[in-house]
Amino acid sequence: MQTSPGTSLYPNLLSPLKVGRTTLRNRMIMGSMHTRLDMEENGLAKMAVFLAERARGEIALIITGGYAPNAAGLIEPGGPILTEHAQALELRRITEAVHRYDGKICLQILHSGRYARQEECLGPTDIRSRINRFAPRAMTSAEIEQTISDYVRCALLAREAGFDGVEIMGSEGYLINEFTVLRTNDRSDEWGGSAENRHRLPVELTARVGAAAGQDFIIIYRISAIDLVEGGATGDEIVSLARKVETAGADILNTGIGWHEARVPTIAYPVPRGAWRFAAARLKRAVGIPVVASNRINTPDLAEEILATGDSDLVSMARPMLADPLFAKKVREGNAGKINVCIACNQACLDLIFSNRSATCLVNPRACRETEFDEGPAAKPRKVAIVGAGAGGLAAAAEASRRGHRVTLFEAADCIGGQLNLARAVPGKAEFDEMLRYFSGQIEDGGVDVKLNASPTMGDLSHGGFEAVVIASGVHPRVPAIAGIDHSKVVFYNDLLSGKKRAGHKVAIVGAGGIGFDVAEYLCHSQPGEGPKVRGQDISAFQSEWNIDASLTLAGGLTGDPLGPRKSPREITMLQRKATRPGLGLGVSTGWILRSSLAKRDVKIVAGVTYQRIDDNGLHILVDGVPRVIEADTIVICAGQVSNRGLFDELRAAGIEAHVIGGAKQASELDAMRAVEEGVRIAQAL
Ligand code: NAP
Ligand code: SF4
Repeated sequence: MQTSPGTSLYPNLLSPLKVGRTTLRNRMIMGSMHTRLDMEENGLAKMAVFLAERARGEIALIITGGYAPNAAGLIEPGGPILTEHAQALELRRITEAVHRYDGKICLQILHSGRYARQEECLGPTDIRSRINRFAPRAMTSAEIEQTISDYVRCALLAREAGFDGVEIMGSEGYLINEFTVLRTNDRSDEWGGSAENRHRLPVELTARVGAAAGQDFIIIYRISAIDLVEGGATGDEIVSLARKVETAGADILNTGIGWHEARVPTIAYPVPRGAWRFAAARLKRAVGIPVVASNRINTPDLAEEILATGDSDLVSMARPMLADPLFAKKVREGNAGKINVCIACNQACLDLIFSNRSATCLVNPRACRETEFDEGPAAKPRKVAIVGAGAGGLAAAAEASRRGHRVTLFEAADCIGGQLNLARAVPGKAEFDEMLRYFSGQIEDGGVDVKLNASPTMGDLSHGGFEAVVIASGVHPRVPAIAGIDHSKVVFYNDLLSGKKRAGHKVAIVGAGGIGFDVAEYLCHSQPGEGPKVRGQDISAFQSEWNIDASLTLAGGLTGDPLGPRKSPREITMLQRKATRPGLGLGVSTGWILRSSLAKRDVKIVAGVTYQRIDDNGLHILVDGVPRVIEADTIVICAGQVSNRGLFDELRAAGIEAHVIGGAKQASELDAMRAVEEGVRIAQAL
């Protein structure tokens, strides 16, 4: 057999694995994701295109989002369910699309238990979860038996639909996980009490589904490898359950990390890469079947290292498959450096899902909307100028050059990246550097002519022979009208995060939006007088920050309250004029992490203020009409942005084809997600 160029660098990642009678072509799995795509009109057709693209990208095995085995198990009304023959026939569309590209696909069976966002939700007992307004009703023994039968029916229907197997979702705090731990199971019948009884449901499910589905059907059990909630399982209990499901017939043991109600981040950018491999490694040592490591594995180098050290046999990557459908193919072809890496921002995937929209990806707006974008070249190559090499300009330049346009990219600074260059100072956000690396490679491959330290004038653009101009010149920080704004204590956020200026011990932050919170987080993790450093990949610091017990001796894998107080190197006060709760605009899946981190460090947040002046004593404000002075050594201004778009208006007035994107178009919602999408869409339209 011919060796692929990537094999010498990634021998473990690219080696096939036999599972039962099926052979997986490599060790990369696309983990289960609820994208909401299947809830759209023509959802299954779109899903088929989405999954086919990942199979074409050579992922070995795809696990679908969760399908409920019965109505009570639905995550929400209208969610994915598999209970009927007709549904199985429809799902054939998906399995055939994946098999066309030699991929394997398993259907995840998910009973949401007490997380179901519906009136009639069920659980082992009636203990309500703090993240669901609906309280569960305790299941009767007959309902438990019926649920097992429903899982079997679901697996048989999955088989009929052409799936290669099923994943029994036993983690993240859903029904099965709820049965396994004392936190949510205080039953006194054969389904509760001793660990033996609490483990009965997953063991019965695995055995009965396996027996019904037959030998040539893959059974994956997704175990909660660490619960991260008080009253969760100990490491010994988890190992004991793993061994039981292995004996019951599971072919693969996938790992889930943390319950949805855990107060520990598990996948967002503050979690270091590979932070949870220890949990998979414990199970790998305990069982003989292949074990999958999951969560925060986003590069082939890390994945290869996890396999090479024997921590797992397979790696699961869910969001990285949104970011780059061709991930595995690029690894095999020796093009790993061209992978569009998931930066764990959650902005366009989880945060959209939580606001009832379909997922996509900040770094790859095509994700889940494959049918809306044209992969081919432009009908007529044109000479295009793009002004500004921030997120939007880079995305536009990459896509326009890919389509065959001749692109000149002007950037006023001495490097590309714009505001992306500020992100790396914020703990965990150095992941944004991956975006810069990827787009730099794309524009290089596309032959884009990059002109740094260049601010083209109207004359340069109109005489340069450009047939279209894209203005992506971004923003500049707003200067609020506060008396004393020129005082030496005042520092603008961009100067602080870029390292041009330093902050002292007592800091006031004017503005409590996304950037205000990021600045506060940066200040909480740097000493007064110290400049920016890349932080956030230190696993032991992460464990100690969130009280994680990596030995799993203690229940739930926690050494104490994850939100307990921490020392801060500074006294920080954040301020905003609105009386509303600060941080409302933060991402749903990441905002709570930032808020918790700042609260642990006693950062004060004052809303409803009127700014009066800045002087040697600090920042003078009124709160409810009462004067106050925030004694501060440094006052950091994070008061939003103003667009740089003068050139666009001039070009339009002169009758030149001009487009404006990103912050230059709308500063009030300056946002990398919108900028990248607008960049790609405008390049598609050129
Ligand atoms: P932002 O979220 O709109 O916040 C601007 C802040 O400045 C607000 O607190 C606003 O509150 C205050 N402000 C506005 N005009 C002011 C004025 N004239 N004087 C004093 N204060 C003023 O903008 P941002 O913080 O610059 O963030 C930009 C964008 O990036 C946002 O869309 C944000 O969501 C996104 N972002 C998100 C994150 C994250 O989620 N972690 C991180 C970075 C950036 P008052 O008007 O009430 O005073
Ligand atoms: Fe990853 Fe962010 Fe894309 Fe989600 S939106 S897949 S977290 S890069």
